Amino acid sequence: MTDNQDSYITHLESALDGTELPAGVVQTMHNDRPLWVRYDLAALRKNVTRDALADRTAGMWRYRELLPVESDEHIVSLGETMTPVLKCDRLGQQLGASNLYIKDESRLPTGSFKARGMAIAVSMAKQFGIQRVAAPTAGNAGGALAAYAARAGIECYLFMPADTPIVNQYEAALHGAKVFLIDGLINDCGRIVREGKEPMGWFDMSTLKEPYRIEGKKTMGLELAEQMHWRLPDVILYPTGGGTGLIGMCKAFDELATLGWLETDNRPRMYACQSSGCPPIVNAFEAGERFAEPVTDARTIAAGLRVPGAVGDFMILDAVRASGGKAMAADESRLKEWMSDACELEGISLCPESAACIGVLQRALAEGEIKPNETIVIFNTGAAQKYVEVMKVDLPMIDHTKPIDWTAL
Ligand SMILES: *Cc1c(COP(=O)(O)O)cnc(C)c1O
Repeated sequence: MTDNQDSYITHLESALDGTELPAGVVQTMHNDRPLWVRYDLAALRKNVTRDALADRTAGMWRYRELLPVESDEHIVSLGETMTPVLKCDRLGQQLGASNLYIKDESRLPTGSFKARGMAIAVSMAKQFGIQRVAAPTAGNAGGALAAYAARAGIECYLFMPADTPIVNQYEAALHGAKVFLIDGLINDCGRIVREGKEPMGWFDMSTLKEPYRIEGKKTMGLELAEQMHWRLPDVILYPTGGGTGLIGMCKAFDELATLGWLETDNRPRMYACQSSGCPPIVNAFEAGERFAEPVTDARTIAAGLRVPGAVGDFMILDAVRASGGKAMAADESRLKEWMSDACELEGISLCPESAACIGVLQRALAEGEIKPNETIVIFNTGAAQKYVEVMKVDLPMIDHTKPIDWTAL
């Protein structure tokens, strides 16, 4: 730390109209739209050098000054690792891409990148003395929130559609959250969390309804930049649901550029990848709109992509357009096949959400939208083994009391 200053946070700012709000008090949204966290980057630039990071512990907290937690005593951590960027030659060869990498976020606590967001959001809840949190969730956010809340000694209530993947239901319960199933959609769960705020006195941890999860997700971009020696790739493919990861990464690149830490001006083209079963951002992108119409019949095996309407829609669409990328949908019926390709060819435990990125990459290469020799990074946002319903196979049984027919194996 420099100058006894843990964080360089200065204020919060409405993403829609730029209204400034103070940082030292509990904030949620402004006019029902999300907030950015802002930092004194000029002071940070004077006091902290890029090279000083190298001596710090690997993981998201090495970017300490660019995170909002005001004092180290409030940090809630489960030992978040720096996730590897793996070159994928066999998968790349099949797809026709010679510089393909997967950044494997599946090693983070609770097996998904949701840990990054929740580590910061729960640390901030602790900073503000919040004792009870609640969230609607249809996937990995619930397990991550439950685990970090447990670590912080904060009470956690979760509301899940009844068809949420079974591992997500059980992991949240195992970490001591009060978990309830709802015979409805994620927005029905969201309404319960909203209505319960008064009578139950909980803080709403919904995606982008508190300002700090983006800051956690931002560390994916900071980490990638550092791992690639401060040169960003040509292309990033990101499985987009609520969009915090994509928005956070673009914010990271902006902050790094302001700090003068990047070696080149090259910014990656961001591809927001969705499933054809739930493509609200793709629809808005193609229609040239800044706000997305909610999808009414959202169906996908990729639970993290089943977000029919995102409060940060304009933030995703602005970021994708500014980067020169696109929002594209992959065929829902082929997600399992693409997931198996990555798992079989590379040994990476790829989630169905990231399988959508492989489908999009295949099409973008075929259309000449992405070139074969460009440097391409796909984010594997979660571990395949959290999706037992998707992984399920019928394995052949061997009768060990009889002679084995080796030719039949
Ligand atoms: C939540 C989730 C997503 C979508 O993330 P956003 O940043 O909200 O768009 C993608 N993949 C997995 C595995 C998830 O859990």
